[in-house]
Amino acid sequence: MRVIVIGGGLMGTSAAFFLARRGAQVSLVDRARVGQAATNASFGNIRRQGRYLPQLPLAHRSRALWGELEALLGRDVEFRATGHVRLCFDAGSVEDMERFACEARPWGLDLDMLDRHDLRRQYPWAGPEAIAASVSPQDGSANPRLISPAFAAAAAALGAEIVEDTPVQAIRRVGGALTVITPRGEIGADAVLNAAGFWGSRFAAAAGEPVPIEAHGPQMGVTEPLPHRILPVVGIWTREKMDNVYFRQVERGNIVFGGGVRVAVDPDPGHARVDPANTLAQLPRLARLCPAFAKTQVIRTWSGCEGYTADMLPVMGPSGAIPGLFHAFGFCGHGFQLGPGVGDVMAELILTGRTTTPIEAFTISRFAAAA
Ligand SMILES: Cc1cc2nc3c(=O)[nH]c(=O)nc-3n(C[C@H](O)[C@H](O)[C@H](O)COP(=O)(O)OP(=O)(O)OC[C@H]3O[C@@H](n4cnc5c(N)ncnc54)[C@H](O)[C@@H]3O)c2cc1C
Repeated sequence: MRVIVIGGGLMGTSAAFFLARRGAQVSLVDRARVGQAATNASFGNIRRQGRYLPQLPLAHRSRALWGELEALLGRDVEFRATGHVRLCFDAGSVEDMERFACEARPWGLDLDMLDRHDLRRQYPWAGPEAIAASVSPQDGSANPRLISPAFAAAAAALGAEIVEDTPVQAIRRVGGALTVITPRGEIGADAVLNAAGFWGSRFAAAAGEPVPIEAHGPQMGVTEPLPHRILPVVGIWTREKMDNVYFRQVERGNIVFGGGVRVAVDPDPGHARVDPANTLAQLPRLARLCPAFAKTQVIRTWSGCEGYTADMLPVMGPSGAIPGLFHAFGFCGHGFQLGPGVGDVMAELILTGRTTTPIEAFTISRFAAAA
């Protein structure tokens, strides 16, 4: 089967790899270079805590793949299962944490629950006001700059064609065949995967199935390097949006952080900006999680253009309008963890017509039903 993948972010490159691995003839087309949009800007969190529960089967499939990527791709993408910790600072947050832990267990996610004493013993760097924590020991992080190029190179090694600097202008179905229109000419295919990030919503709208979606930029930063002391990715359970900050210490010692508000992004051209006021609001909140950061210098800040749908869930599955067209876009700030699983599931769906992992909750038709 001949498949065109539109978009060279994590979703498109992982799908291209898994499609090629299953024997499909693949062309991946990106308007720029692989791995330069939301994926490249990501914090790199591989987190299952706090996820929408029906998304956990996909998240588990993806987590298993993260563990195999070095062997599958022949490169270290800096995936480290260091654990993911979320701290609590008040009784309401403890309640939310315990409820999630209880509800997630039947979905196959087991969290370790720490009281104040265990927390202090296990994580001596944590802020003294923290009263409890949950730990997902098998989660962690990877390097967002490495992952899409690694998937694209591995897909190319399996025979996939990687076409860069080529914007897709339209998708047409003429008779039984699909055609993708670009300024360099038309490409025919049996199936097309729309994995164009926020901009995937435009192909969906052109197909007659609009998705309510907005472009926003999560706010990131990185500090000067400090002695490497903190292994897990660290976040918080909180009902206060501004307090929702998170960080991880990379092996080179820098603290990568994010959280707080997201800033609206003009998707044309899609250059997401950092609001310095948000960075200033993040810093004392990070020092609450880990007081050792109180006097640390920030050396760089950045953001990225991500699609957030109205119900904060992605769009995945077949188009309801164009046979042979499939969507995987709008990952609402939580697609990095899901990426390898999304590529594998979409490859399975396109080539076999079904998936062994449930994705019905993400069907594009939910928006038609709501309209
Ligand atoms: C700042 C930031 C931090 C994040 N942190 C995390 C995190 O810690 N954990 C987590 O799980 N998720 C995180 N996310 C979310 C995650 O990064 C995204 O959900 C995921 O990377 C989306 O991948 P994608 O392939 O769908 O989109 P993108 O990476 O945006 O890729 C889309 C691609 O489509 C291409 N394209 C667009 N239009 C066209 C066209 N017309 N023709 C051809 N190509 C086109 C673009 O050039 C781009 O390469 C974060 C996102 C951001 C922005």
